[in-house]
Amino acid sequence: MASLYLDHVYAGYQSKIILNDVTIEFDKGVTVLLGPNGSGKTTLLRVCAGIIRPIRGRVLIDRKSIFDDISLKRYISYLPHREGLIDELTCLKNMLFYMYARGIVNRDVKKVIHEYSIRLGLEDILDCNVSTLSRGQRRKLALLRVLLEDSQIILLDEPTEGLDIISRNVILDIVRKLSRERTIIYVTHDLDEALLIGDKICVLKNGKVVLYDTKDNVIARLSGKKRKVGIIIKGDPVPVFEKFKIPYTYDKGMWIIDIDVNIDLPTLLTELVNHGCKILRIVDIYNPLEDILKE
Ligand code: ADP
Repeated sequence: MASLYLDHVYAGYQSKIILNDVTIEFDKGVTVLLGPNGSGKTTLLRVCAGIIRPIRGRVLIDRKSIFDDISLKRYISYLPHREGLIDELTCLKNMLFYMYARGIVNRDVKKVIHEYSIRLGLEDILDCNVSTLSRGQRRKLALLRVLLEDSQIILLDEPTEGLDIISRNVILDIVRKLSRERTIIYVTHDLDEALLIGDKICVLKNGKVVLYDTKDNVIARLSGKKRKVGIIIKGDPVPVFEKFKIPYTYDKGMWIIDIDVNIDLPTLLTELVNHGCKILRIVDIYNPLEDILKE
């Protein structure tokens, strides 16, 4: 099992320092990386992937520096924000190209591609050019590449961005299963997703780690504070609220609900839609987790 350790890492671009003395050990499970825009999340992933060499400090896999021994990079897979797919090639050829570049030629790659593409709903577009794909399909194809690489350490930069809820849940399910045996760092801006998928939560601010703790401890810190959400709905949501024992009020056309922070709002909204409601507007009136991000 590969563990990833950043030891007093300073890193940035040209003379601009972004990561400022980051020391952290990532181990098995999903660590969700949160933080405001520009706080250094992507830079941290790129350092972990061996793309940006730190100005100072070390990045270690099983106590060896990935910049001294580049063969260690085979333990790492990275899903960047920009997928880096080749537009002119078909999806299948893209995958074969990346597997070939990675030296994965000895197993039945096509069979594995086929199996995963069924799970991701990509099986019908494997022969289409990447240039014809939607944003969500590109995201899933890029994730497929990461899955095929079958690495011990997986770095995911907003893997579900732009995906519908069904695709999002498929991906969360895959990530959850992978995390039993792997080290996963998962960047998201979505607090619902963070609590749904994270075993640990890491918050970056101005290139420094300001919080790194288990999800359970983070939730415990909120000491029972509820999240308040306003929803404008066409239809009757009350049976769903009652089924989930969610306190609700109705004020000037808006339903106001108080939910535990670890309730997944998208799943609740899907329940409402399945019940025949139409969601017209959602307002996060108060989310206690944001207090922690602001601290
Ligand atoms: P986050 O992922 O948290 O939004 P980033 O790591 O992308 O943050 O960016 C951190 C800072 O680094 C930002 O101020 C951004 O403008 C700067 N930055 C990112 N990429 C580059 C680059 N290639 N060259 C110069 N500055 C960059």
